[in-house]
Amino acid sequence: MAEQKLMYINGEWVKAENGETIEILNPATGESVGVVSYGDGRDAAKAVAAAAEAFAGWSKLTARERSKYLYNMYELVRNHRDELAGIISAEMGKPVREAKGEVLGAADNFMWYAEEAKRIYGDTIPSSVPNKRIMVIRQPVGVVAAITPWNFPVNMIARKLAPALAAGCTVVLKPAESTPLSAIRLFELFEQAGFPKGVVNLVIGKPESVGQEFIDNPKVRKIAFTGSTRVGKLLMEGAAKHVKRVSLELGGHAPFIVFDDANLDAAVEGLFESKYRNSGQMCICTNRLYVHEAVLDAFTNKLVERLKKAKVGDGRNKDTEIGPLVNERALNKVLDHIDDAKAKGGRIVCGGHRLTEGDYSKGFFIEPTVIVDVTQEMKICHEETFGPVVPIIPFKDEASVVAMANDSNYGLAAYVYTENNSRCFRMAESLEYGIVGINDGAPTQTQAPFGGFKESGIGREGGYYAMEGFLEIKFVSFGI
Ligand code: NAD
Repeated sequence: MAEQKLMYINGEWVKAENGETIEILNPATGESVGVVSYGDGRDAAKAVAAAAEAFAGWSKLTARERSKYLYNMYELVRNHRDELAGIISAEMGKPVREAKGEVLGAADNFMWYAEEAKRIYGDTIPSSVPNKRIMVIRQPVGVVAAITPWNFPVNMIARKLAPALAAGCTVVLKPAESTPLSAIRLFELFEQAGFPKGVVNLVIGKPESVGQEFIDNPKVRKIAFTGSTRVGKLLMEGAAKHVKRVSLELGGHAPFIVFDDANLDAAVEGLFESKYRNSGQMCICTNRLYVHEAVLDAFTNKLVERLKKAKVGDGRNKDTEIGPLVNERALNKVLDHIDDAKAKGGRIVCGGHRLTEGDYSKGFFIEPTVIVDVTQEMKICHEETFGPVVPIIPFKDEASVVAMANDSNYGLAAYVYTENNSRCFRMAESLEYGIVGINDGAPTQTQAPFGGFKESGIGREGGYYAMEGFLEIKFVSFGI
């Protein structure tokens, strides 16, 4: 049995109070990659107490002092790029090449917020009366409880913790139970970066129990969550009882629209990025592909040609483009969406099956899949598939495709391919989505806002926008 990896609470590596552990398996091979302490709300309570204790000291450091710690993290994460990428790939299957990109993205977040820490500006406002002065300052909200998913197990943590720490908050992180090893390695780097004890805490444990502690514990002032809309709603409901701040990065159902004047080769590459990267397990992944009827056959043929060349395999192999799905539950959901589409008249023009032969036999691999003759009743048209499967839906004109694209409870990301400049602007303005990629299938950048409309969430990560979620505004009135 591998050595048990621990949680990080108040500057110490500790076992779960309940003594339980979980084993982490590589989804490409079924092999064990580690054993981790698996606690519950009691560990969360200890971590929250430590974070609350550390808040006074951390929040009173100067911005430049906090910034230095974040710069240390930037250097450390960059220098451990290959190691972290290997851990990500081993525990959730992401191709190493992509995982390295994710780690560099995380490093970039630490650098960005090391800078942003210095720009927490206030205001002075002219008073209406001569004997008063108005000052507005921004202060950290307090202890932040962060909950992250498994699909970007390093960068999701950086995107929340870097701005929270820059703002002067202390944090307790609960990572996803399938990817705690990436989080543990990142916290070893936090320790190496010299963060004072209690400023960053890591709790790995039962989601409902840890989540309930975050909701009920009055010392937690803000819950920052990325994950499914279902869990986001539960947390928002619980937080509402205490008027606790929340920011929610939730599910998506992205439309990808190809007009008849699009550069079809660029559109195919953009779609490959937005649909098949991370095996289709991204909140901003394309879920509905709308293609103008005049280019339907030409585009479909090019896409199928590209997918037939795509290399599916163990993420640790250098040439792998599409890795396994994270676990059996994820695989079954994707297969269910394919079966449901077939039962309702959908036709598979590429892929459609689980891969089971040879090297694939122990992992959760699925062929990149394209479905045509799609109807609105199919699950794939309104539920998040979270896998490398895309339905193609033809359209006739701009107005009808905008209406179809906006007909969703989700509103995270949308994509448009067209060479018509005026249409670019019209589409950017009319799509009800927080992120719109125009001739761009991979729009995420550290400095840009990331978040959704409708049931895709509340608040924004990225750039200076993320800082607002970790700061309270205080108005100070001076009588003189
Ligand atoms: P999930 O909601 O099941 O889990 C996310 C996190 O919440 C995990 O850490 C999990 O342990 C925790 N959790 C589960 N139940 C909980 C509870 N009752 N209380 C507290 N925490 C709980 O989602 P997932 O399957 O891990 O991730 C995939 C989902 O995340 C997809 O819907 C995807 O679209 C979404 N996502 C959104 C973004 C974004 O930025 N909008 C980014 C990545 C993923």
